[in-house]
Amino acid sequence: MEQELNSLRDTALNELSAIDNKEALNDLKIKYLGKKGLLTGMLRGLGALTPEERPRIGQVVNEIRNEIEDIIASKLGAMKQAELSRKLASETIDVTLPGRLAELGHLHPLTLTLNRIKDTFMRLGFEIAEGPEVEKDYYNFEALNLPQDHPARDMQDSFYITKEFLLRTHTSPVQVRTLQSAEPNQPIRIIAPGKVYRRDYDATHSPMFQQVEGLVVDKNISFADLKGTLELFLKETFGNRVNVRFRPSFFPFTEPSAEVDISCVMCDGKGCRVCSGTGWLEILGSGMVHPRVLEMSSFDPEQVSGFAFGMGVERIAMLTYGIDDLRLFFDNDMRFLRQF
Ligand SMILES: [Zn+2]
Repeated sequence: MEQELNSLRDTALNELSAIDNKEALNDLKIKYLGKKGLLTGMLRGLGALTPEERPRIGQVVNEIRNEIEDIIASKLGAMKQAELSRKLASETIDVTLPGRLAELGHLHPLTLTLNRIKDTFMRLGFEIAEGPEVEKDYYNFEALNLPQDHPARDMQDSFYITKEFLLRTHTSPVQVRTLQSAEPNQPIRIIAPGKVYRRDYDATHSPMFQQVEGLVVDKNISFADLKGTLELFLKETFGNRVNVRFRPSFFPFTEPSAEVDISCVMCDGKGCRVCSGTGWLEILGSGMVHPRVLEMSSFDPEQVSGFAFGMGVERIAMLTYGIDDLRLFFDNDMRFLRQF
C-alpha cells in the first residue's frame, strides 16, 4: 500500500511539473483529489488494513494530498503574477502625455450680464437692495400709486397666491420698502435686481425674468441727474458709439416719465429687423419719482426729489450677445451655454 502511494505521488508530481495553464491544473486536481480521484480512492482502501497500519497510512495519504495542494496553489499564484506582469507590460503609461483637463463650468450669460450692470452702478455709489418675490398687493401696486381699479394693472397681470399676495410683477416694491424703512428725507441710492413674474410667454417674454430697478432720492435731484446717470450706464454697457434718446412716456409712479432708447446695436441706427427698421431700441423706463409716492413713505416732496428707472436683464443680455430668442436662456442646452 505504501509503495503504491509513493508511486502515485511521484506520478502526480511529475505531471504537475509539466503543467503551464490553469485548465490543466484544475483537471489534475480533479484527477487526484476529486471525489472520485485516485488519491481519494486510496483512502477507501484503508478498511482492508490492520488497525495499527491505518493511522500511519492515513497520515501518508494526507501528506501527499497537502503536498499536491501546495504545489497547485503556488503554481496558480505564479500564473496570476505572470499574467499581471504581461498586462502591465502591454499597458504602459506614457507619463509625457498632457493630462486630461477637468471641464470647468462658468457663469450663465444672464448672471454675467447682471454682474456687469451691478458693477457699473456700484462704481457710481449705488447699494444693492433686495426684497421678497412673493409680495403683498400693497407693495406691488397700491404703494406705487396703482390702486385696485387702475387700468395699468392689466399690463402686469401676474400669478396671485391669494387675493392679498402675488408673485411680484416688478422690483418696484423693493423701492417702496426701501423708502418706507428709510429715515424720512435722508438720501437713498440703490439698485434692486431680482426675479419678477408675469403671465407672458413668447420669443421676447418669459413668465419669469429679471429686472434691475434703481432709485435715487436726495435734495436737488433733477432730470439732469437721471439723464447723466442713465447715459453713462448705457455707454458703459453698449459702448461709447451708441446714441441715447429720451421719449416722454407714462408710469403711474413717476412724473415726468421717459422711455430711454439707444441707437440699434445691430445696425448702428440704419434700421434692421431687430429694431423694426426704426434704428432705435427701447431699453429702459425711467422718470422723476411721483410726489405722491414720496409722501406715502413720509418723505417731503418739497424738500427732496428723486428719480427711478427699470430695465430687463434678459433684454440687455440679448442685445449684448446678439440672441434673438429669450427662451434659449432657460433651455439649459450646453451647446448654447458653452458659447459665453
Ligand atoms: Zn437695427
